[in-house]
Parts: sequence; C-alpha cells; structure tokens
Amino acid sequence: MNSLFASLPTTVFESMSQLAREHDAINLGQGFPDDPGPEDVRRAAADAAVDGWNQYPPMFGLPELRQAIAAHYQRFHGVDLDWQREVLVTSGATEALAASLLALIEPGDEVVLFQPMYDAYLPLVLRAGGVPRFVTLQPPQWRFDAAQLEAAFSDKTRVVLLNTPLNPAGTVLAREDIDLLADFVERYDATVVCDEVWEHITFDDVAHTSLLSVPALRERTVKIGSAGKIFSLTGWKVGLVAAAPPLHAAISRAHQYLTFTTPPNLQTAVAYGLGKEEDFFLGQRQDFQRQRDRFASGLERLGFTVLPCQATYFLNVDIAPLGLSDDVAFCERLVREAGVAAIPVSAFYAEDKVTTAVRFCFAKRDAVLDGALERLERFM
Ligand code: PMP
Ligand code: GLN
Repeated sequence: MNSLFASLPTTVFESMSQLAREHDAINLGQGFPDDPGPEDVRRAAADAAVDGWNQYPPMFGLPELRQAIAAHYQRFHGVDLDWQREVLVTSGATEALAASLLALIEPGDEVVLFQPMYDAYLPLVLRAGGVPRFVTLQPPQWRFDAAQLEAAFSDKTRVVLLNTPLNPAGTVLAREDIDLLADFVERYDATVVCDEVWEHITFDDVAHTSLLSVPALRERTVKIGSAGKIFSLTGWKVGLVAAAPPLHAAISRAHQYLTFTTPPNLQTAVAYGLGKEEDFFLGQRQDFQRQRDRFASGLERLGFTVLPCQATYFLNVDIAPLGLSDDVAFCERLVREAGVAAIPVSAFYAEDKVTTAVRFCFAKRDAVLDGALERLERFM
C-alpha cells in the first residue's frame, strides 16, 4: 500500500521492547516504571468501574475531572483556567497531540519542531499537511539560540510544537529560552502546542514553567498533559488539553471524531488523584531522583559519560568517548549481547541526527537497575 503511514516503520519503543522479550533482556528502553503506582488512585478507578457509570461520558470529559484539572494548574502553575471553555479530556497525550495538530494545521502551513522530538510528532504533522522546519538541539545542553529560531520561522509558520521537559534529553526549558521563543511566536503570529507530559517529573529543584503561565503565550498555547505520567500509570491513556477558548473549540472538534471520549472510571480516578497533597508529588519526584542517582553513578563507575538529567524517567549516555559513533548498532549489541534494552537517541531525529547518545529508563526497582549494571559490566 502506498501511503505515508503504510511506509512508516514500527516505533522504536515497540521494536525495542519486542527485541528485549526475544533476548530476555532487562528492558530499560520504553519508558514505564515498574512500580505499581499509587494504590488509592488505582482503587478509585476500580471502584468507579464497579459502582459507577461505564457508558459514554461527556465529549469534553467528566465535569469533575475538568474542574480538577483547572484547580491542579491553578495550584501548581498559578494559571486561571475556565474549566468549561478551556479544558478538554483526551485519550492520552497522544490523542491530544493528534487532535491539536489536525485542528490547527492546514496543508502547506509550516510547523517548527525541535529535534530530538518525540516519535509521534513528525508523522502527525506530515499527515495534517504541515511542512516541518527543524531546530536541532545538541548534547550536552540541548539548547537553541536566536539564530536557529530565525532560520526556522517564516511568514508561513502556523504552529510550534514544543516539548518541555524534553523526552529524551531530560532537560527543562529555561525561562530565558521560553521568553526568546515567545518573541518569535508573537512576531510570526503562531500557536505553540506544548507537550508538558513530564511536568511533575523534575529533579534537583529545577522548576518546570508551563507556557500557559507566560503572559505573552497565555492565549497562544495549547498545553498537553498526561495522567499516565502524572501518576506513573503509563497504560492509562488519560490526557488533557488546556487552551484559550478558540483553540479549545477547534481541538474539541477534532477530538470528537478521533476518540470522542475516554473511559469514565479512569477519568474519575484521575480527578481524585489530581487533588492529592503536595507530598505525593514531591515523594514521587524524590523516588525517581534517587533511582536516577543510583543508576547514574553505576553507569559512571562502568566508564560511561552520563549527560545531565533534570527531568523525565531517562538518563542519556554519550558513547563518543568510548570511540563509538553509531547508537543504533550499539543498542542492538546491548540488547543481544548484554541483555539490556536501551533506545538510540538518533530515533528522535529526522535529519542532522545525533548518533552518539543512548537513552536508558531508570524508573525501575533497585534490583532491576543493579541487575542491568551487572550485565553492562560483563559486556564492557
Ligand atoms: N509526549 C511525550 C513527550 C511522551 O514522552 C509521551 C509518552 N512517554 C507521550 C507524549 C504520550 O503520552 P500518553 O501515553 O499519555 O499518550
Ligand atoms: N513515551 C514512552 C517513551 O518515551 C514510550 C511510549 C510508547 O511506547 N509509545 O519511552
């Protein structure tokens, strides 16, 4: 068959997980924690399914969840959201991305994308008829500058697709970089679709700034979130869009023809979870930070050059100091010969690929991380 989607390969996350199963490898590729997640939130979903409503919920999402989302972002980012006109519940951040891009892009519109980029972005932009303009970020800082933005923006720029905190780099966009970007977004009259799914998984007191909280971007931002990441329940696929009414209205139209709605018991549980005390979110960050530090020091002991990590479940190593330049070949050897699955960061680029960074998911129990380190030590 001859179509864009028919020509795409299976995603690197799925193919690496498949290889991990075949080789009985420890899977530090696809990003998911091995902790079962907060029991009260899981129980709320079970109770809601047993006791509650299992028929179609409202297309915009359950009112209690939309109110909880507005209250949550008021609490964490000081953003005032009108839950009725500015909040939409989606089936995962992935659907939020698809609905936003389909709703906002017309064929021929240019879309500014930052590489490394999450794997769903480019296919969705292309399918919507968008013309990608890439800004390429380089390790170890993964930052952009004004000259790069100047080259990427034009009078045809319609959308900027941003991800902060950034998967796979593990960076959080600094306020000065957001302000620089905001100047371009205003000058070119663009909309920012900002994927903030990792907003709660930040470390070392680095604060995530939601683009909605930046006055110049308040009316121009589509914020995307994911309960799967907020509660480390990645299979749940409850996502959200928060955006000014005209953007929200357009995206809702796309959403109604993509999934229309999202399982009501999961929505009920997420509404409950978003109201949890600050201690829960802090505790989660501290647990992940401890796992990050344990795994980073183990990798360094083995001679890996570990790149800075301010956020996400992911640590990157630079393989160039080992005399290596092909991250894909290295990851294939790792899964087959060492029995450890990781993700080659070049998979997050469309062009000008960085091929010397390898991403490991550290959101695992100590014994799993230690087991992976032992296997890597035997391999090295
Ligand atoms: N965006 C980014 C940057 C992600 O890392 C992920 C998943 N890890 C998603 C979107 C998808 O989120 P969801 O599972 O809620 O669809
Ligand atoms: N977001 C996850 C990651 O970066 C993968 C999600 C997926 O498998 N599509 O590992």
